[in-house]
Amino acid sequence: MPEIEIANLSSPSLIRVGPDRERVWDWLGGRKCLLVSDETVYGLYTVFFKGQDTFLMPPGEASKNPDTLIRLLGAMAKNGLDRDSCLVAVGGGVVSDLAVLAAGLYMRGIRAAVISSTLLGQVDASVGGKCAVNLLGVKNLVGLFKQPELVICDTGMLATLPEREWRSGLGELVKHALLQGPGVCEEMMNHLSGINERDVGVMTDFIADSVRFKAAVVGSDEKEKGLRRILNLGHSFGHVYEAHCELPHGEAVALGLVMALRYSRDLGLLDKVEYGQAMGLIMALGLAHDPADIAAEQILFYLGLDKKKQQRDINLVLLAGLGHPQLKSVPIEEVARVWPALCLRC
Ligand code: NAD
Repeated sequence: MPEIEIANLSSPSLIRVGPDRERVWDWLGGRKCLLVSDETVYGLYTVFFKGQDTFLMPPGEASKNPDTLIRLLGAMAKNGLDRDSCLVAVGGGVVSDLAVLAAGLYMRGIRAAVISSTLLGQVDASVGGKCAVNLLGVKNLVGLFKQPELVICDTGMLATLPEREWRSGLGELVKHALLQGPGVCEEMMNHLSGINERDVGVMTDFIADSVRFKAAVVGSDEKEKGLRRILNLGHSFGHVYEAHCELPHGEAVALGLVMALRYSRDLGLLDKVEYGQAMGLIMALGLAHDPADIAAEQILFYLGLDKKKQQRDINLVLLAGLGHPQLKSVPIEEVARVWPALCLRC
């Protein structure tokens, strides 16, 4: 099974990709631990949790809040976790973001491992060390950087993922492919049926590739001062859909990718052949649909909330070729003006 060592972040980490969750017991080596999961994952994989102290939360983003965090910290104390103990998150990005944050805070930091069970969690949340909870309706307002010591991206668990969550993860996987270059996009096109069937072997290779790519990017810019910004490809556009249409994150990112590709093409940065190749992949994976018309003032409002905004300009990530991201500062009024010509239905 592929193993990716991350040595260049402030804390080293090993990421294993494959149907391998049982490996966590070897890593724990008998140390005291508390498992953290949500009720859905627990219900599907109950056998795995048998005999283990476990903290459960309701599934979904609503659980990623300070109340759940405090309850988890309390459970850690009641279960007698000390500085040598470990917290093991088993679930998607919600569970891992919250659990790793708790591990970072408890006794000023104890060890954490993650068994990542969603595609989004595996290709995105598993690497980079960001963990947080939402506060007062603001996403990820309270958090820190802590890369778990061990991440197991369990590709066997993807079989039970609901279709919508699966597609949401594919959005981030395709984003990494577009940033990596035409070769990866072509590989994905060549393995469409394996991807759509969630074949463990095919997915293990693509996920490992994606994790390696993200690890290289964040390894050279851990705290998001420069290069790491390219990972926001599709996000400025996507966040508008995510907020306005309440779409899952990766699904909104896929729509944002379409718009970033079209804008790159219209500005003469991306040639028609590569544009066609990228759009072909997005279409073939069933990621492209256009959920709603959004009024110009709504677009301006949501773009105005973008964290990558400076004054009235927004830092868009565009593509000057597949594998060649380029940052461009554009006034938000201009983005709102071109929006109707970039979205899918035109
Ligand atoms: P999630 O954790 O809410 O999981 C989505 C749904 O899938 C949940 O209902 C969950 O119960 C269910 N589920 C999980 N694994 C399953 C499985 N194997 N089979 C069946 N159902 C399963 O959401 P997510 O999409 O994994 O992650 C989204 C969260 O991740 C957001 O809060 C986002 O902010 C965060 N995130 C963090 C980073 C980071 O760098 N830390 C990066 C990307 C996203």
